[in-house]
Amino acid sequence: MTARLLTAGPVVEKIKKDLVQRCEALKKSGFMPSMAVVLVGDNPASLSYIKNKKNVCEEVGAKFTLKQYSKEISEEAFLNEIDTLNHDPSINGIIIQLPVSDSLKKLNIPNLVVAHKDIDGFHGKNSQNIYAGSTDMNLLLPCTPKGIICLLNHYKVPVSGKHAVIIGRSLIVGKPLSMMLSNLNATVTLAHSKTKDLQTFTRRADIVVAAIGIPRYLTADYFNIDSSTFVIDVGINSVDGKLCGDVDTENVAKVVAGITPVPGGVGPMTVVGLIENLITASEKQMKGMI
Ligand code: NDP
Repeated sequence: MTARLLTAGPVVEKIKKDLVQRCEALKKSGFMPSMAVVLVGDNPASLSYIKNKKNVCEEVGAKFTLKQYSKEISEEAFLNEIDTLNHDPSINGIIIQLPVSDSLKKLNIPNLVVAHKDIDGFHGKNSQNIYAGSTDMNLLLPCTPKGIICLLNHYKVPVSGKHAVIIGRSLIVGKPLSMMLSNLNATVTLAHSKTKDLQTFTRRADIVVAAIGIPRYLTADYFNIDSSTFVIDVGINSVDGKLCGDVDTENVAKVVAGITPVPGGVGPMTVVGLIENLITASEKQMKGMI
């Protein structure tokens, strides 16, 4: 058996088409959707992610600004810059590109951007919606979990009543995704580095999400042969200059029902999800819904 490849391409194109129209409608009403990315330092991976965000932002017709600061920026100066962006009416969406420099790590980064401009969906007020059980996709949701749910919907992967095993409990992927899948009536296991005998969970799962950060960690041994499991590979790792996920795609694809590729799976869904949040935030700001 060879797994169905759950690629982002067709889903991203569909979402972008819709975003172009929504952006056009905003501009016709005299409102230019505009985002700012705050970058501290010059981490090459961050610069590459930012380039992808800029491209999609401009493709849908919105405005993109990069605010880049030196690694030596003081906490006070950094907070002032964020405050200025928070109060700037010409900026509708702000993200703080992670990681920030060590001296800023102790700040409460998810809550620095005001909730109505928080297009990463990390602010406590935005995550509260998920914790309260909302399944509304037109909110400022964290982009990677939102992208995963869009992919599952697009490929008609059943979720309600199914067992989802998420490996990785970060604030940007595993934790919010566990809530969002639970809100869609999946039974969720949230695994992590201290989980014992992970294979007993993955072998019984209907959906496995790998957000671990270790190249090709999930091998075919983690699945039964001819299993009906769908595998979502969130990992983005660089091995010998090539991108790969947290799943050994080549061998896992021989035994499971469906799998997302890396690159071309969750990554592009995350980027388009961010721009979707920008347009949603802009629409709400235009209507005074904040
Ligand atoms: P973090 O580094 O914040 O968290 C990793 C998680 O994996 C932790 O919860 C950790 O457990 C768990 N873990 C580590 N080792 C094991 C193990 N051996 N067995 C089981 N669990 C383990 O990761 P992120 O969520 O930020 O990112 C994960 C991966 O996803 C990375 O490759 C990252 O680059 C990628 N990523 C991709 C995105 C995309 O758009 N495609 C977006 C965001 C991230 P513990 O909590 O116990 O330490």
